[in-house]
Amino acid sequence: MSEPVHLTGLTGDELRAFARGLGEPDYRARQIFAALHRRRLRSFDEMTDLPKELRATLAERARASTLAVESRYISADGTRRYLMKTHDGLPVETVFIPEERRDTICFSSQSGCPLQCSFCLTAKLGLLRTLTAGEIVEQIVVALNDAYGVGVRAPRGTNLVAMGAGEPMLAYDSLLKALRVMAAEDGLHIVPNRVTVSTAGLAPKIRELAREPDRPHLAVSLAAPTDELRDELMPINKRWNLDELLAACKEFEKSLKPGERFTFEYVMLDGVNDREEHARQLANLLNRHRLSAKVNLIPHNPAEGLPYQPSPPERVERFKEILERKGVRAFVRRPRGRDIYAACGQLAARTQANNLSAALVHQLTR
Ligand code: SF4
Repeated sequence: MSEPVHLTGLTGDELRAFARGLGEPDYRARQIFAALHRRRLRSFDEMTDLPKELRATLAERARASTLAVESRYISADGTRRYLMKTHDGLPVETVFIPEERRDTICFSSQSGCPLQCSFCLTAKLGLLRTLTAGEIVEQIVVALNDAYGVGVRAPRGTNLVAMGAGEPMLAYDSLLKALRVMAAEDGLHIVPNRVTVSTAGLAPKIRELAREPDRPHLAVSLAAPTDELRDELMPINKRWNLDELLAACKEFEKSLKPGERFTFEYVMLDGVNDREEHARQLANLLNRHRLSAKVNLIPHNPAEGLPYQPSPPERVERFKEILERKGVRAFVRRPRGRDIYAACGQLAARTQANNLSAALVHQLTR
């Protein structure tokens, strides 16, 4: 018998084809799509508007959910972090960040990550597997249900960021499909304009994204102003160096539509990439490539097993001032959920290392 189909990752058209394959009329596919995405139900048993026989067939041939929530951690600042497991036992982490204007969900695109950024705990896991579209969508469903209640609409809408574990550009097809599914009006209705994808710098994929008609916002993690330093911090730089990466960024910037955002991210590591000279080099680099994107300065989240400390606030401010004096728009991002290891990839990596503080663990009830 063939593998059960994970329905959460299917577009409306694909779900219609699946329903037809079961001999069901198209309105059943619409009902199932609404149950999975608008009502955010995670089991066929809860879809009581479907006939019992159809629910039994679905339970045999398909899956409404495949991620199991293992644990939830709540930070003092309200940030919620989830560690989930895929059907094949791999860790997936998701973070819900309450914000003044619109809450944000940070999701993972891979379990682990093949890129070896030296400031990231996920790198220590290596790549376990790229996630499917359904697994990406499910992370959002779980976080929304937990934050607001099952099926309750986010009062102020939701922003999504692909900044959890993994390199989203290596999950390009799953990611774009998940975005198509989530954009549906009769479903989650989170349009690409509410989504930001953060990449370590896969230049060809940045060019590919630039050609997509309906695409998310882009953020590119730089972490260093010279190839020498970036080779050390982000080894992907040896494949696409700063000049190649920024040329791709320029192409992306040229294709920006009104209201579209494109940002650089720069993690601030004490004594490593935060000197005044680095700020001047960074400004010169961006100006040489005629890039006008803003730079987000992100204080590093320190973690056991990583050899870095965050830059002191006054050095971050000084760095920002130098960038601004040279005409580069710069902002400092407030760190969130530090007490629950809310930086990219920290939860899964820590859990793998069996190193979590038990006091932070709250088992999820559903
Ligand atoms: S920072 Fe992102 S791209 Fe780099 S290793 Fe970590 S998860 Fe992968």
